[in-house]
Amino acid sequence: MPPRLVRPLSRRVTRPVSLIVLATWIGVMGMLINRSYLQASPNLATDLARYGTAAQWRGVYYRGEKLGFTVSQTVPTADGFELQEDGQLQMSLLGATTAARIRTTAEVDRAFALRSFVFSLDPGTGPIKIDGRVEGRTLHLSVTSGSGTRTETRDLPEPPMLSLNLSRRLADAGMTPGARLQWTIFDPATLRNAPVRVDVGHREMVRAGNVSIPAFRVEMEYSGLHTTSWVTDTGEVVREESPMGLISVREPVERARAMAVPSRPIDWAARHLEHHAHADREGDPHSPIDGLLHAHVGWLFSVTPAKRDRYCRALMRDPTVMLIERTAVVWLALGLIVPALVDGWRGLLWGGIVRIAVHNHTMFAVNSICHAFGSQPFQTGDESRNNRLIAVLAFGEGWHNNHHAFPSMAYHGMGSRPDATGLVIRALERAGLAWDVHRPSAAAIERHRARRLRADRAVAD
Ligand SMILES: [Zn+2]
Ligand SMILES: [Zn+2]
Repeated sequence: MPPRLVRPLSRRVTRPVSLIVLATWIGVMGMLINRSYLQASPNLATDLARYGTAAQWRGVYYRGEKLGFTVSQTVPTADGFELQEDGQLQMSLLGATTAARIRTTAEVDRAFALRSFVFSLDPGTGPIKIDGRVEGRTLHLSVTSGSGTRTETRDLPEPPMLSLNLSRRLADAGMTPGARLQWTIFDPATLRNAPVRVDVGHREMVRAGNVSIPAFRVEMEYSGLHTTSWVTDTGEVVREESPMGLISVREPVERARAMAVPSRPIDWAARHLEHHAHADREGDPHSPIDGLLHAHVGWLFSVTPAKRDRYCRALMRDPTVMLIERTAVVWLALGLIVPALVDGWRGLLWGGIVRIAVHNHTMFAVNSICHAFGSQPFQTGDESRNNRLIAVLAFGEGWHNNHHAFPSMAYHGMGSRPDATGLVIRALERAGLAWDVHRPSAAAIERHRARRLRADRAVAD
């Protein structure tokens, strides 16, 4: 009998350890799924419960990146309407990302003139609530924040109007291309009353979600800020753009509420390219500089949406990539179903869950361990390392310093180190199934090596 290299541990030890590993994995996956798909807090869910099927949902974007959503509806009351709006936006404050909540409820008469409103803003640090009541041209305000409530009364030159009912009044007045209107708008966020100038343009077809809707192009000037909106005959704002790159556009509810889903393939690609653009500097989504655990798995829980538009435009135009993107959950499910069909519960555990967990952690280790432990044959200006153990486990990806030195190179092992992925790509290339395979020239490698030697010598001197 051959000598046993490892003496198996007793089942009394292995069983609880396996259970803990399994429970931890299920817990982490549960948290991720909750963050990605059901991120709405119970609080938000109650707030949104008032919105029916007629509510209008909008996605809010900043320079092509999803920031959040708003939802609004108009409910008829005995002698007018109640206008309701809720929103959630991701805000970056001092480097930390929090979800800010905005809620407005306004009572207006049949002509959409304002009677009272309640506005609240919670940037994640506690809400600020503003109650307003209009009596003729007098506005009674009460502002409630963590430090208490203060009240004040303001006399306005004309009855105040919320931006919320502007488009309704515009439709009420009748949309005439070429018309110029001037009103006063009260901004509850700044407690200021300022004139707004509205220019109605021509009717255009504007895209919202998957449909095109005819709407009037409306230019607005408010406190030196210019916005362009597209408003329908009935006063619905289909799309709104500001020159700073802030866009809100009508969308189906699921799309409006969908935020960053870290498991979508293009999000992974976007975060990976962002990592290369800022490796181990400010802006790197996963650097051990912010802690090894953060680089390994903690970054997955960050709520910042992936910068898909900045880094992955070309991928998003590729129909094959988009097909995989849209069906990603199917492939993930097949990875559990197939092993379960082959070997029941044991198949599901070892061929499904454990396989995915091990693969996830080796991939995560490329971000954490390969930026902390290993050798640096190339001077890349970041902390990337070649790590033999991770290279074997991650099918060659562990030659991470090589990868940062030549990011487009297909063989991380550079032909001389164990690199299973490189072998597969080479086989595909031989079979004619892969082309344009990038490999740096011997001269380029030599130049890069020499840079390292020069730097080492400079340090030694
Ligand atoms: Zn890296
Ligand atoms: Zn890379």
